[in-house]
Amino acid sequence: MREYGLYIDGTFSPAASGQTFDSVNPFNQSVVATLARAGSADADRAVRAARSAFDNGPWTKMSKEERSALLKAVADKITEKKALFETLEVEDSGGTIKKVKEDVYLSARAMSLFSKMALTDPLEQLDGVSRPGFSQNYLLREPVGVVAAVTPWNFPLKMAVWKLGPALAAGNTVVLKPSELAPCSAMELAQIFHDAGFPKGVVNIIPGFGEEAGAPLAAHPMVDKVTFTGSTAVGRKIMAAAAATLKKCTLECGGKSANIVLGDADLSIALDGALYAIFYHQGQCCEAGTRLFLPTAMHDDFVAKMVDKARRMKLGDPTDPATDIGPVISAKQRDTILRYIESGMKQGAMLATGGSAPKDPALAKGNFVEPTIFTGVRNDMTIAQEEIFGPVLSVIPYTDADDAVRQANASIYGLAAGVWSRDKEKAAAVARRLRAGTVWINEWHLMNEKAPFGGYKQSGVGREFGLEGLHEYSEAKHVHVDEAGLREKRPWYDTVIPKS
Ligand code: NAD
Repeated sequence: MREYGLYIDGTFSPAASGQTFDSVNPFNQSVVATLARAGSADADRAVRAARSAFDNGPWTKMSKEERSALLKAVADKITEKKALFETLEVEDSGGTIKKVKEDVYLSARAMSLFSKMALTDPLEQLDGVSRPGFSQNYLLREPVGVVAAVTPWNFPLKMAVWKLGPALAAGNTVVLKPSELAPCSAMELAQIFHDAGFPKGVVNIIPGFGEEAGAPLAAHPMVDKVTFTGSTAVGRKIMAAAAATLKKCTLECGGKSANIVLGDADLSIALDGALYAIFYHQGQCCEAGTRLFLPTAMHDDFVAKMVDKARRMKLGDPTDPATDIGPVISAKQRDTILRYIESGMKQGAMLATGGSAPKDPALAKGNFVEPTIFTGVRNDMTIAQEEIFGPVLSVIPYTDADDAVRQANASIYGLAAGVWSRDKEKAAAVARRLRAGTVWINEWHLMNEKAPFGGYKQSGVGREFGLEGLHEYSEAKHVHVDEAGLREKRPWYDTVIPKS
């Protein structure tokens, strides 16, 4: 059985309290690993290590080329260890082998991209700030300092890479707290950072629970920035804790993304696209297409075909390449999903398929929920307003594009949305009216670390990826260099200082 300590200041160690916790396989409830359980004393030690590495260590004096090379070494090592990561991600998070193979490949690719972003020139010349000949002005992008990163369990390796990569590319030092529900990949990543030769204290990774290890990071006065991915409810707490010292925050939170099929959509892709949007990774994606808006004329046929396909999805052992739907992360989460399904029925939605845990005895130990489709959903029902984070689709009919846009935007969330149409201009016109950080046209789930990702409204604050994402990890320093020289060219001094 695997065991992991806390990775602080270049060493693996037990928690100060000596406590540990187990990470559990959602398919069969076996223990995947035992990990040191970080508490506030450990969070404090990790932050101090990161602070010292930032203030005194060689990291901030390294050239951007040296930092880039270190990150590239990490990317290469992820690829080298891909079999290990695939095993861990399936066992720890319940992702199917088909899904996690993609994740591991994409994690290495993302880290490689972040290593290139580390080469971004931190200096930008600014034109026209002052009158010509009076000054030269430029902008320096400098690291924020110590970054605390807190991640969820649904894409354990990707999430760790998406936080560590850009934070380090911008020259910061980091303390990462992975989710207690799937912490193993992050700990293997710690070993990779260690082996790659990152200076001590630049990367610190502390497994533990939110209130015990995450909250002290968000509140710690030596932390300059918090970057968080998780639920909106916890995002609010993080922002409140960060407020005491006015830390910078990037929050990637929940969603209830609207998927609008227009009347002229190509059904051969829209149908599978709508199923992919909701059922990929058992619906445990922040940007899952959870609300499907169908024109009334298309509704019955579209739903009948979706139901047929949903019933043919194979629930099973996530290590089996034939499995489409694995378990959800925990028994607690399964029960939450089943409660939402019950609430949908109570509020008058109609169950078109699914709605329960499967009866198959081979799946009895796993946290399974059948792919579930509700019709007759009103956009104000709980199942259409709250994030369920499971394989539950709400189908909502609409009358015309205005009606679809109005209903799509009637949500506290604004993470992603989708539009399906054969007419790209028509789709683009709808896309412009949707209040969401990402809009896919005739596609879903495809993300790109070169393009900003994040939420409108209560789906988040700030952006990840692309230059905008990198800038979230930087302070912008304006430097004004006088070129006028002469006293008489500075009439503004006269407002307060006697001329002679
Ligand atoms: P969660 O909010 O319960 O936990 C996320 C992380 O926060 C975990 O590491 C947890 O230990 C920690 N945490 C919990 N309480 C804390 C506290 N008081 N202070 C500091 N840290 C605390 O979310 P989850 O169940 O792990 O993940 C699912 C959620 O994540 C969903 O809401 C989903 O939409 C969201 N998510 C968002 C994105 C995005 O990019 N917008 C991506 C993936 C997941």
